[in-house]
Amino acid sequence: MNRDTQSKDSKALVLFSGGQDSATVLAWALAQYDYVETVGFDYEQRHMVEMQCRLEVLAQIRQKFPKWANKLGVDRVLDLSVLGEMSNTSLTRDIAIIDRKNGLPNTFVPGRNIIFLNFAAALGYKQGIRNLVAGMCEADFSGYPDCRKETLDATMLALNLGMDTDFTLHTPLMFLSKSGAWQLANQLGGEKLVALINQYSHTCYLGERGKCNDWGFGCGTCPACVLRAKGWTKYTTSVSA
Ligand code: ZN
Repeated sequence: MNRDTQSKDSKALVLFSGGQDSATVLAWALAQYDYVETVGFDYEQRHMVEMQCRLEVLAQIRQKFPKWANKLGVDRVLDLSVLGEMSNTSLTRDIAIIDRKNGLPNTFVPGRNIIFLNFAAALGYKQGIRNLVAGMCEADFSGYPDCRKETLDATMLALNLGMDTDFTLHTPLMFLSKSGAWQLANQLGGEKLVALINQYSHTCYLGERGKCNDWGFGCGTCPACVLRAKGWTKYTTSVSA
């Protein structure tokens, strides 16, 4: 079906970074909607490996899930390098990952998710897409206040008022743990999807892609790897139990 002939309710725009969470919600969107576009953001991440991984995840989905491949529309990467220029965090600078005095880890890029949503909504508006899908999650909340449902609800209220429109933000992982996210992937696309996300999505804060673990590539020691490894172990234990 041509994109222009579809109702706006059958289309979605996925905020897709190439990480485990956004790869899982991309599959969720492909299972729900007839037409799915993806958008990523280049904010001068310290490691561009994520940007490469997002292309590989898309290519693998096209190859291994033909029924989803037909629904995949345009993929865009928006240049938000100004965000990287402004922030001094361990995701955008070569500095160690530590917890700051205010309890927030210095992997927190201030305003990031709020800014991403604004750009995604502006793009959705232009494309006639009203369903936005994102991988934010509160349960494994790494101390990021912009992943909270409350923050996202307030942002969407402002966007809908400011654009006089009716966007809905879907966050299927909001109350799932990392092992719950693997379970969801299994429900959506079986072991084939779990293996795809495991192998091609990227989580590691240090951009380590050389070391392959049973839970995927990564250094194994940064907070993102630790969370991913823990979730994987819990998931595989529950599957084999
Ligand atoms: Zn790591």
